[in-house]
Amino acid sequence: MAVIEKDAVASVHYTGTLPESGEVFDSSEGRDPLTFLVGHKQMIPGFEEELMGAKKGERRTFTLEPERAYGPRIPEAVQQIPRAMFGDIPPEPGMTLMSDVGPFNVVSVEGDIVTVDFNHKLAGQTLVFSVEVVDVREAKVDELDHGHAHGPGTTNADECEN
Ligand SMILES: [Zn+2]
Repeated sequence: MAVIEKDAVASVHYTGTLPESGEVFDSSEGRDPLTFLVGHKQMIPGFEEELMGAKKGERRTFTLEPERAYGPRIPEAVQQIPRAMFGDIPPEPGMTLMSDVGPFNVVSVEGDIVTVDFNHKLAGQTLVFSVEVVDVREAKVDELDHGHAHGPGTTNADECEN
């Protein structure tokens, strides 16, 4: 029986909670299971580490410190930029926008100065995941070639641009 290991394709249902508040920050409940190629940096490191060796039908719950999740919060990633840089989109606190160097969140707008945060929203957070393994299979050649899984819940091979 296949188990979760490098180069396997795993499908899982998961719920992620913040242990301090109990808030659910992400869950696959009501959606297709999450399908990923193991060992190709598709997932945060600890998520895969904790699932190694798991079989179809197995459930695991684990806690990830920031180092094995989205990393520590970096104070320098909070920056002040002129409002004029936003062009036609009026920045408002709470917005998530895309830039050349990745997504960022608008923290505050004061006059012409916009404070933005390039940290991932979950950076610096300890996360608890409860995971159920729905399926495990061997990866196909095109999946290993592309470095990601194909099929339901992901991209179909014939639609894939990589
Ligand atoms: Zn592909």
